[in-house]
Parts: sequence; structure tokens; C-alpha cells
Amino acid sequence: FSQKPSSSSSHRSSKSSSSSRSEPVEIVERRKRSDGEGYTYHRYTRGKMLGKGGFAKVYLCTAMDTERQYAVKIVPKANLTKQRARQKLQAEIKIHRSLKHAHICEFKHFFEDHNNCYILLELCQNQSMNELIKRRKRLTEPEVKYYMSQLLKSTKFMHSNKVIHRDLKLGNLFLDKNLRVKVGDFGLATQLSDESEKRKTVCGTPNYIAPEVIQNDKEKRGHSFEVDIWSIGVICYTLLVGKPPYESKDVKSTYQRIIRNEYHFPSHIPISQDARDLISSMLQTRPDKRPKLDQLVNHPFFTHDPTKIPRSLPSCCTHVAPDWQ
Ligand code: ADP
Repeated sequence: FSQKPSSSSSHRSSKSSSSSRSEPVEIVERRKRSDGEGYTYHRYTRGKMLGKGGFAKVYLCTAMDTERQYAVKIVPKANLTKQRARQKLQAEIKIHRSLKHAHICEFKHFFEDHNNCYILLELCQNQSMNELIKRRKRLTEPEVKYYMSQLLKSTKFMHSNKVIHRDLKLGNLFLDKNLRVKVGDFGLATQLSDESEKRKTVCGTPNYIAPEVIQNDKEKRGHSFEVDIWSIGVICYTLLVGKPPYESKDVKSTYQRIIRNEYHFPSHIPISQDARDLISSMLQTRPDKRPKLDQLVNHPFFTHDPTKIPRSLPSCCTHVAPDWQ
């Protein structure tokens, strides 16, 4: 991206809010015409804030011409002064825009002006599964089957494109207006050039991080696609139990529990044997023992009684357990 102030008229025409001069109320995208003859201008109004990330804020925004709504991730250029930060954002954009799938939050456009980079995304009106679990505490097994089968489909698609997400967690599983899962935030994702390649960077979110990522410091063996399978195991457990399996008072104790693989199913919550088997197959310390995505979709948890996987969920599921009768 350009670091210097651009000469784009978009900047000059941007109206600024009184509270935040750098995040304009009206965002203008200057797009090159396909015939190469000049530019077209697309105007958006910025609405309420939808969420905050490490170095970006995400807002609701509406295209002024079509009235279509999107989410726009605004990254201030002031946060991109280090080359490393710019490279990370570039990698996120390159990977995210290459992945088009029903259960991946759609990347629409990238553009920039004098102050900010803008990533225009498909709007997910029902926040993330993190907020869902906070409201609901835990989900019923048919709901978990519904959400998990969508997550497995999107992960299968990512892996077949040699992309490892590396930060699969409830907070990165967004829900659209119909409660369909949309995987988002490719900030830690990586694309391998061949399947046998290993990655060495330690990254992820403490509760969801795989043991081989934590231990890489010592062993230097690297990690691969199996780290996502581990995180999906953590996600599945959290949806059924209401809290992550290795949660502790601090990060160090969480890592210790992960390395020792210390987790259990609380006795007061009824969890089927199929669900327990599925989770424990994914939460295996040795990455090569974890099932592949094809094996997971064919696990009895999903195949025993396929009629038990809902095709859609009623909208009340955002707040209360559905009545399956
Ligand atoms: P970061 O990469 O900086 O962590 P995220 O991509 O995770 O940023 O976005 C931060 C927050 O913004 C999310 O937790 C979520 O609440 C909200 N958000 C992100 N993308 C969308 C979207 N497409 N639709 C609705 N809300 C979103």
C-alpha cells in the first residue's frame, strides 16, 4: 500500500466525524475502470462499530448507490509504519481474497486513502459465536452438529487450498443473518507452497493453541494443518460445555494443561458418547493421530442420524435453546 498521502480525490471529499477525524463518516473508494480509462467512485456511509481487533476497527457500512450493507475493517495507516505490520496485512488480504466459500466471510474489496486501509467484507449480522455462547452458555447437540458441519466444510476448503487458518476460535466464527457460520479473520493464516512444508512461527490464541505450536520453541519441528483440527476440537468442546477445555487462571497454566492434555467432561452436563469420541479424537497431543477432515465429516456424531442435523436454525437460537419437539 502507499504510505505517502495519496493524491486521490477520495481523501479530499471524505467528510470527517467530529469524534474521529481519521475514520470518515463517508468513505470513498476510487476504483480503476476495467477499460483503464480513469476511475469510478463508490461512496459508503459508515455506521456503528461492530467490533475491535488488534490493529483495526470494524464498522457497519452502507453503499450509497445500492444501499447494500457490508462490514468494513478500517486499519489506520499509523498502525502500519513498521514493514512487518504492512507485510502481515498484505498476507491477510492475499489469502482472504483467494478464498470464496459459502462458510467463509466474503472478501469484497480492498482500498485505501490518505489515513486508512479499508477491507470491505460480507456483513455478519449476528456477531460471532463468542457472543452466542456468552448469551446461551452452551448449545444443544443438534445445534453443535449444525455449526460444526459448516466449520468442517470451510476448513476442508481452506486446507485443500493449502491454507492453515491458525486462529480458529469462537471469536473468529461469525454468524450471518440466517445463523450460517462464516469463518473470518485471516490475520494469522498462512499458505503453504507444498503440503509437507512446516511452519515455525508461534501464533494462535492461548485457549485454542495446539501443543506442537507451544512446544515448537523447544523442539523446532514445526506445525501444519493439524493445528486447525486441534482448535476445532477446542471449539466443539466449548460449544457443548460452555467453557474451553484447558481454561486456567493464567496463560502459563493453560499452556501446561494443553501440553499435559488435561481436560475432562463435567459430569453434570449430558454429552453423548459420539460427541465425546469426536472431541477426544481431535484433542490428541500427537498431530499425526488427529483425524483428517474427511474422516471428521464421516464421524458417527454426524452420520449416526443425519436427520438430526438441522438444515437451518430458528432465529430465537441466538438467545434461547430451540425446542426440538
Ligand atoms: P482483528 O483481525 O484485528 O482481530 P477481526 O477481523 O477479528 O479483527 O474483527 C474484529 C471484530 O469485528 C470481530 O470480533 C467482530 O466482532 C467484528 N467483525 C469482523 N468482521 C465482521 C463482519 N464481517 N461482520 C460483522 N462483524 C465483524
